[in-house]
Amino acid sequence: MKIVLCENYDEISLKAAELIKEQLLRKPDSVLGFATGSTPVGTYKKLIEMFNNGEIDFKDVTSFNLDEYYPISNINEHSYHYFMNENLFKYINIPKDRIHILNGEAEDPTEECDSYERQIAQVGGIDLQILGIGRNGHIGFNEPAQNLCQTTHLTALTDDTINANARFFESESLVPTYALTMGISTIFNAKKIILLANGNSKCNAIKTLFSDDISTNNPASVLKLHPDVTVICDYAAYDEK
Ligand code: PGA
Repeated sequence: MKIVLCENYDEISLKAAELIKEQLLRKPDSVLGFATGSTPVGTYKKLIEMFNNGEIDFKDVTSFNLDEYYPISNINEHSYHYFMNENLFKYINIPKDRIHILNGEAEDPTEECDSYERQIAQVGGIDLQILGIGRNGHIGFNEPAQNLCQTTHLTALTDDTINANARFFESESLVPTYALTMGISTIFNAKKIILLANGNSKCNAIKTLFSDDISTNNPASVLKLHPDVTVICDYAAYDEK
């Protein structure tokens, strides 16, 4: 794993956007994997700026998002459909039919997940996956557990994740308790991965990421085996001192 240590959130966002720009200049029809949560918002702002300046173009891009709450309406303002539209998609030019987000309204979640895997395979896999990291080490909604699921699946959220995400809702009791998420292999099969972290709430998760252990108790730790991962984080996330 490569690490890029940054002074602050703005620098993290700029470095991440620059790597995505390099990817698009190298391969304009890249398949990008997007993440939600607070961390990538700054990166998306930089991408929008680059798009407006004519530095990058998304017209040939295909995208797949990591996860979505389940069940949830696609127009619910807490859904990741809504989040992605408000924070990125409505400002750039990825063709609508090439944007893929797991459907929180799907009647059959298993079929939804299987179909997502097929669609990723059909386009030849993800070229560049952007990830945040949970303070418990989750990636997507692959939560710490005895066993990790390899492919896209329906999962129960842990109390820690529900608590962490409560800040987006009126109360913790309103946070959905299930989600659809890419699995560990789905993420691992991306050719290139950028993991972003800022702030000392992520310190333990990042510390484990750079320790020797690979454990299902820190799902992100499997990324140590991946040949092309760049962790972009600030000093607060890297070491709380
Ligand atoms: P955050 O979430 O960016 O809102 O901290 C990251 C995650 O849970 O993966």
